[in-house]
Amino acid sequence: MTLVLVEHADGAPTETSLQALTLASSLGGQIDALLIGPGAAEAAAHVPAAVAHVAEHEALSSFAPDAWAAIVVEVAERTGQNAVVAPGTPHATDAMARAATRIGEPLAANVVAVTAGSPLQLTRTRWGGSLLEEAVLHAERAFLTVTPHAVAAAATGAPGSVETFAPELSDADLVVRVNDRIAPPSGGVSLADAKVVVTGGRGVGSAEGFAPVEELAALLGGAVGCSRAVTMSGWRPHTDQVGQTGTKIAPEIYIACGVSGATQHIAGAKGAKRILAVNTDPEAPIMSVAEYAVIGDLHEVLPAVSAELRRRRG
Ligand SMILES: Cc1cc2nc3c(=O)[nH]c(=O)nc-3n(C[C@H](O)[C@H](O)[C@H](O)COP(=O)(O)OP(=O)(O)OC[C@H]3O[C@@H](n4cnc5c(N)ncnc54)[C@H](O)[C@@H]3O)c2cc1C
Repeated sequence: MTLVLVEHADGAPTETSLQALTLASSLGGQIDALLIGPGAAEAAAHVPAAVAHVAEHEALSSFAPDAWAAIVVEVAERTGQNAVVAPGTPHATDAMARAATRIGEPLAANVVAVTAGSPLQLTRTRWGGSLLEEAVLHAERAFLTVTPHAVAAAATGAPGSVETFAPELSDADLVVRVNDRIAPPSGGVSLADAKVVVTGGRGVGSAEGFAPVEELAALLGGAVGCSRAVTMSGWRPHTDQVGQTGTKIAPEIYIACGVSGATQHIAGAKGAKRILAVNTDPEAPIMSVAEYAVIGDLHEVLPAVSAELRRRRG
């Protein structure tokens, strides 16, 4: 039996949670789900799992990693799960590491494939996704997180029953918790969820140089991203950074402008379905991952593309 920690938003499981459920299905046996926090019961009705366990507690209105860890352990032990799987997102990873530590079991992070057995055989992404590791995991109860957007989310069955319970939480479980959220100044589409991302790199030249990047992103209903060279220069906030030490994105199309395509940058854009590069250098490393490229100055190319989009839309 495998328990999957399912994150949810707007009354539905997140895409990365569906990916985790898909990976968990390769372990065989019954798949249960665990949902925590406001909206969990509504989302549970859409989760393809035999039983969706829904933790309801007044203290769960905001993320508290130790509380989540306590709940994961409580459900895993009460229902006799052999493994616990979660999406490799910041919150779920935080909670899973704490849960595994509580009961002295190992956590394997960033798994992309698993074969059932004892020990479990795993394939994991390492070094920001630039290499794959084959590993074995010896555990009484294995804890796995799944690399976001590395596994295609495939339906794993119809929703089953929903069982709501009140977890036992101590004051210590609630010491670390989210107290406030500050919306990004631009509002609009979040980088992690955007279907279109237009990114500017050092080639943009300045903070003001981002105007054509912002204009194109707005016309396409997308989000603006940037490289670390840009955040290090203070042109954009770190929340805009794509990459190994920034946000991992998975848009339908990724338009990278004035970005060389360093390994650490591409580590965050591996989930993109298509990459379009705009760069003055035809030999830039980004060309090896881009499906389309425009060789030219972004300050000429982007305004021309935006003007054409506006003309076609009348
Ligand atoms: C531990 C570690 C973690 C890191 N994490 C990240 C990360 O999360 N994200 C990240 O982005 N980087 C990260 N980096 C940094 C990374 O190695 C690169 O240094 C960085 O991505 C380079 O940014 P860039 O492509 O914008 O700049 P550059 O490499 O300087 O590339 C600029 C590009 O712009 C092109 N260009 C110049 N002018 C124009 C123009 N007018 N029009 C069109 N093209 C033009 C150039 O040909 C060039 O290809 C990390 C590094 C380390 C060591």
